[in-house]
Amino acid sequence: MVTPTFRFAPSPNGDLHLGHAYSALFTNRSARKAGGRTLLRIEDIDFIRCRSEYVRNAIEDLSWLGVVWEGEPRLQSRHMPDYRAALDQLAAMGLLYPCFASRQEIREAIAGRPDWPNDPDGQPLYPGLHKHLSRAEREAFRASGIPHALRLDMERALSQVNGPITFTEAGMGPDAETGPLEADPAAWGDVILGRKDIGVSYHIAVVVDDALQEVTHVTRGQDLFYATAIHRLLQILLNLPEPRYHHHGLISDETGRKLSKSAGDRSLRSLRAAGVSAQEIRSALGFDEET
Ligand code: GLU
Repeated sequence: MVTPTFRFAPSPNGDLHLGHAYSALFTNRSARKAGGRTLLRIEDIDFIRCRSEYVRNAIEDLSWLGVVWEGEPRLQSRHMPDYRAALDQLAAMGLLYPCFASRQEIREAIAGRPDWPNDPDGQPLYPGLHKHLSRAEREAFRASGIPHALRLDMERALSQVNGPITFTEAGMGPDAETGPLEADPAAWGDVILGRKDIGVSYHIAVVVDDALQEVTHVTRGQDLFYATAIHRLLQILLNLPEPRYHHHGLISDETGRKLSKSAGDRSLRSLRAAGVSAQEIRSALGFDEET
């Protein structure tokens, strides 16, 4: 039998806070209930915002909190070739195109169009500026040294998928959806899979790693619910297995306020420095049974 495999996957672009603590404890509890294991993955591909100091702190804070995981944490920054290989695969399928447009140019292209649609994160959909550049135009852009992002040609990608794209949601989406759900990747338009600055992206790294680490259950905050549509599409295109999803609610500000009366901010370190115990945090977050 396959071991139910869960993962907690923080991005070390700051110290862990109560929201991370909730997600990590939730993942641990779900794994335990399923008779499975938890892996720790550090999502540090963004070398501009992530710092090794935060990685060290995260590992220390999680241990202090009583979170358990199996094996060594996987640091994504050490596996960039894996993510580039997945992008190469999509490129070879003719599903990626370079976009040299700046944010400013994109903003200008939709200026004066108040009803221009937004993606589920509230960002305007890409207006297709560089989608149909000629080969000569692309070469000229490349030669000029202007950096580019790699975008997924959503229409073409969807044309390669037979039937509806679905996922199994054990938790609750923002509109209280549970059960097998239909995903709507088109709502994201031509999403960026290779960022201008770092060459890869969260979406590509997350699906590659969930497959490589044989993750069977993805537990994460509701803020990533709609991104699951992109992940399911990429899993289908790259022929990767489909995990089950459980998006949990985000912890209320009130919980943080109660705990952080004496701390300057709500990072686990500052709470700890202010004398809050790991047990108090677990208990405030509803994980009393873990003691
Ligand atoms: N690294 C992401 C974050 O910290 C979580 C990714 C995921 O769980 O899929 O928000």
